[in-house]
Amino acid sequence: MLNLRDVFPRGLRVSSFSMRERLVLIGKSTAELRAWIAELGEPAYRGNQLATWIYRKAADRFEVMTDLPAALRTRLNEIACISPNRIETVQRSHDGTLKCLLALQDEQVIECVLLPYEDRISVCLSTQVGCAMGCRFCATAQGGFTRNLTAGEIIDQLLHLQRLSEQRISHVVLMGMGEPLLNLENVLVAIRLIHEEVGISMRRITLSTVGIVPKIYALADQKLPLTLAISLHAPDDETRARMMPVSRKWKVADLLEAARYYFERTGRRVTFEYLLLRGVNDTPRHARMLAERLRDLPCLVNLIPFNYVPTPDNFQRPEPERVKAFRQVLEQAGIRVTQRVERGHEIDAACGQLRGKHLGKPLRFAMRPSPNAPL
Ligand code: SAH
Repeated sequence: MLNLRDVFPRGLRVSSFSMRERLVLIGKSTAELRAWIAELGEPAYRGNQLATWIYRKAADRFEVMTDLPAALRTRLNEIACISPNRIETVQRSHDGTLKCLLALQDEQVIECVLLPYEDRISVCLSTQVGCAMGCRFCATAQGGFTRNLTAGEIIDQLLHLQRLSEQRISHVVLMGMGEPLLNLENVLVAIRLIHEEVGISMRRITLSTVGIVPKIYALADQKLPLTLAISLHAPDDETRARMMPVSRKWKVADLLEAARYYFERTGRRVTFEYLLLRGVNDTPRHARMLAERLRDLPCLVNLIPFNYVPTPDNFQRPEPERVKAFRQVLEQAGIRVTQRVERGHEIDAACGQLRGKHLGKPLRFAMRPSPNAPL
C-alpha cells in the first residue's frame, strides 16, 4: 500500500505556491501519480495521462497536455511542476554528440551526454554530483563529492536529452559523474522508471561501476537483466593501485569473483572496461596477464584509450600500435574485445571536464595542448 506521506511532502492542498514550493512530478511513477491526482479529487486515470506525457512524450509543460481539461492544467500549473532542473549549456560536436550541463534545484550542476550512433541513440547519465572514488585519471574525481542524485534527477537527464534528440533514445549508460553503486537505492528507482515509464528495456541499460564488491552482489541478487560494466583497468592489484584508490579495499580477485556471481545470477555476461594509460597498464605483459585472469569468465573487454585530462601523474594516452597489440593478445586468447569509439573530442567530452570549466576551476593542473593522437 502506497503511503502518500512518504511520497509527497505535507501541506500540498494550499492553493497557491511559489515556484520553490511546487510539487516536483519528475521521478514519480504512474502509481504515485494516480494516487496523488486522486487525492486532488480527480479520476485516477488522469495519473496515467500525466505519466504518458511526462515520460513517453517528454513533455515539459502542462499546457501541452491537451487531453487534460483546461481547468486541471491551470490548477496543476499552480501546485506542481514537472521538473525544476534546467539545461545550463549545450555543446554540440560535429559527430552529433551533445553534451549538456544540467542545473539542479539547489544550483548544483551535472553533466549528461546524448550520443547518436547509426544504429542507436544512447545517453550517458550521472548518478551523483561529483564523485568520492578519487580515480587518478578522472576529471570528475578532482572536484570531490557533493551529494547523491535523486531518482528524479537521474531520469530527468534522459528526458532533457530526449527533447534535444530527433530520434527516440534507445540505450542508457550510467557512466557519467559519480559511482552508481554508492547511490544504489535511487539508481534502482531510476532504472525501474526508465524501464517501466519511458519504455527502454533493461537489456539496453548499462551500469558502470568502479567495483564496489558488496554492492555488485546486492545488484546481482536483484536479478535484473542489466548490463554490468566493471572499470577493471588493470589485471593486477599493483597496477590498479597506481590508478584507483578503491583497489586498496577490493582486490582484482574479489572483483572477478563478484563478476562471476553476477553472471550466474543474471545470465548477463559482464563487460570489463580497460582504460589504457601509456606505460602504466598497456604493455603486452599486462595484456597476457589480463587474458589469463579472464579465461573461463563469460565477459567482454571494452578498451578505452585515455581521454586526455591533466592529472598529477601526467598520464598519457598510449600509441595506437600499443592499443592494437594489446587487443590482439586478448583476441588470440579467445576474449571478445570492443574498443570505445571516441566521440565529441572538441567539446570537453571527457567526464567532468565541462563541469570543471563551468565551476570556474578548470582542473587543478595546468592545461596544455592535448597530446592525444587520433587513433
Ligand atoms: N564510477 C563509475 C562510472 C563513472 S566513470 C565507474 O568508475 O565505472 C565511467 C568510465 O569512464 C569509467 O570506466 C572510468 O574509469 C572512465 N574514465 C574516467 N576518466 C576517464 C578518462 N580521462 N579517459 C577515459 N576514460 C575515463
